Amino acid sequence: MKKYDAIVVGAGIAGCSSAYFLKKKGLKVLVIDRSGVAASGGSAAAGAFVSPKIGQGSELQKLTNEAFEFSKNFYLQNFPKHFTQTGVIRIPKDAEDAKKFKEYEAYNEAKWELLSYDELDALGIDSSYESFLFSEAGVCDAPKMCESILEEIEYEQYELKSLIYEDGCWFVGDYCAQNLILATGYENNYFDMRYMGVKGTWGSRGDYETKVELDVSMHKQISVSANIDGIVKLGATHEKDVDVCIKCTGEPLKKLFSVASTMVDTSDFKLKETFCGMRSGSKDYFPLVGEVIDTTYMLENYPKIVKGAKAELQKIESLYICNGLGGRGFVFGPMMGKILADKIVDNKEIDKRVNPDRLFLKWCRKSPDLESYR
Ligand SMILES: Cc1cc2nc3c(=O)[nH]c(=O)nc-3n(C[C@H](O)[C@H](O)[C@H](O)COP(=O)(O)OP(=O)(O)OC[C@H]3O[C@@H](n4cnc5c(N)ncnc54)[C@H](O)[C@@H]3O)c2cc1C
Repeated sequence: MKKYDAIVVGAGIAGCSSAYFLKKKGLKVLVIDRSGVAASGGSAAAGAFVSPKIGQGSELQKLTNEAFEFSKNFYLQNFPKHFTQTGVIRIPKDAEDAKKFKEYEAYNEAKWELLSYDELDALGIDSSYESFLFSEAGVCDAPKMCESILEEIEYEQYELKSLIYEDGCWFVGDYCAQNLILATGYENNYFDMRYMGVKGTWGSRGDYETKVELDVSMHKQISVSANIDGIVKLGATHEKDVDVCIKCTGEPLKKLFSVASTMVDTSDFKLKETFCGMRSGSKDYFPLVGEVIDTTYMLENYPKIVKGAKAELQKIESLYICNGLGGRGFVFGPMMGKILADKIVDNKEIDKRVNPDRLFLKWCRKSPDLESYR
């Protein structure tokens, strides 16, 4: 039996980031994944654009922009080879959207500038509207980034099928650890975590070979990357209600391609590879980072919580989650990994905005799943 301080289940960007910061704080960490490092989950599919969020200053926008600063600096300082700071241009969808951009300006926290029609044209971008250029944004090579983050951390290909907690240790196959971190994306079959409301949104994207000169990435309805080593990434589709992994046929890319053709010259684009996978989002679109509530215990011992009574939340011992990164895993991942490591090692309070506790009592009161308890 090999002993660790922490076992992280899932080697996507959430698991890799959590493991990195736990190891940095001196813990002996093992990462396991059933298929490989960023090999099959959302992190294998991601175009991995890392850019700020625009809008009118919502709480989610503020958090996303904090995470953007954190991840950008994290990648530049530690893994610059796999983060290309191409800049990302945000282009209004239509005239209506262009009007909103005026209001958004006040909430652009990351370094930005306004690009005129002529400046966009000079960059090879077809748009009639002034656009924001976030020059510090960029694109990761998702699998290589995850592999590099894990470079000095023990990793085993292993599928978690069952779990036992005994004498202060989580037992996972031949391994055991004091702390267990679930970073399994949209799947969770081990504990009742319905209150977190994790849902999958399926997505596809493609890598295209091209000689077109494109120095900067952009986003309108879809994202188009700069040309990096002869490849432009187009992404991504968003399909709700796909709950089993369907085959990546490349079919959904036809629409992406036609939208991209209204933005840049795609005449020599040749599809090289198709990627698809599931994003894992929470009920309120904020990440889920922290301890896991023992739902069964709470319902049995405090049945009145389903009618709105408050009760102290009982947590499952030494079990943590890092999930719900939605469509921005490469923006949120590093900061969420740091928040989790600060909690596990230094017992620092989890940022309320990402603590899954925020969802529990509301779920108890409102969820149709608990009708029989009411
Ligand atoms: C098409 C597409 C495009 C995207 N583009 C971007 C983008 O441009 N920018 C951005 O920031 N984000 C993007 N995303 C979102 C991003 O990919 C996700 O937010 C991110 O990958 C989530 O990472 P994760 O580590 O939480 O989950 P995942 O990457 O899904 O990792 C979960 C891992 O857990 C493993 N696992 C599950 N169950 C078990 C088990 N029982 N035992 C062992 N291992 C298990 C899986 O094999 C998997 O590797 C995109 C997603 C898609 C699908």
